[in-house]
Amino acid sequence: MNTDPTKVLYIGGFGRSGSTLVERVLGQLPGFCSAGEVVFIWQRALAENQLCGCGEPFAACQFWQRVGKAAFDGWDQLDAAEMIALARMVDRNRYIPSMVVPALRPGARAAMERYAGVLSRLYQGIAEVSGARVVIDASKHASTAFLLRRVPDVSPRFVHLVRDSRGVAYSWTKQVRKPEVAGGEDYMPVYRPPRSAGRWMSYNLMFDVLGAVDDTLVLRYEQVLSDPRGTLARILAHAGEPASPDALGFLGDGWVDLGVDHTVAGNPMRFHTGRLDLRMDDAWKTELAERDARIVSALTAPLLLRYGYRQKEKI
Ligand SMILES: [Zn+2]
Repeated sequence: MNTDPTKVLYIGGFGRSGSTLVERVLGQLPGFCSAGEVVFIWQRALAENQLCGCGEPFAACQFWQRVGKAAFDGWDQLDAAEMIALARMVDRNRYIPSMVVPALRPGARAAMERYAGVLSRLYQGIAEVSGARVVIDASKHASTAFLLRRVPDVSPRFVHLVRDSRGVAYSWTKQVRKPEVAGGEDYMPVYRPPRSAGRWMSYNLMFDVLGAVDDTLVLRYEQVLSDPRGTLARILAHAGEPASPDALGFLGDGWVDLGVDHTVAGNPMRFHTGRLDLRMDDAWKTELAERDARIVSALTAPLLLRYGYRQKEKI
């Protein structure tokens, strides 16, 4: 197995901030492999055999079979229940302080080392099978980002994706079906705007803390849509990867051509192949109730300002 550190580009932020789109655009770059929301691999892929982004159930996907073989000598060498329990023991936002200062939680040291070791082999396996220089992990969770800093033989690069809190709050009011549960009817949770505003604040604050201890690139989702090529160039520079204009043929003004990506979780866009329009989704400006918009603006005002959003966006 390759002994160079595996470069992992981690996309973090609160849900409905456009991480799946950013991940998929990046995944089209030569030398990049988009793995989806890796944090869910034990539960949704290994235990529940949900669909890979290629459309096959996880256990039938040749890509992931080869990854399991390369990383662990086969997935059957791992116990999904043990992995889920380990992740629960170490990968939670409340443990972020002890991920920065491990001495704060000495009792978790063995579990942390075991889980970090498994993740290290997993990322190396993905890199080896895909032949990619950079593995993209769009797990989004703050705790997983902090955990990644403790994974051996991994060189993490962090992208903190933010989106206007009013747009995020509006998105969480809509009911979205989960397409990866084959044959079932399962929906993503729905949040009322004040609740998503509170969560938007706490998630983004945790990534601001990450930015204080590590190098993070803060990106606005709205910038990604208005200037996809420029944004991609910034991400490449942040990842220390060459930005060859020849490699960007899949990305035009207002569109992207998507191939097949073997992603383990993410929003329904992860199944899309072919051309996709890159359109600004600002339906919240007309659809989010005035009162909700005011409440969300007030609750998220400090960070809206910090990320360069106007507080009175609604006319
Ligand atoms: Zn697949």
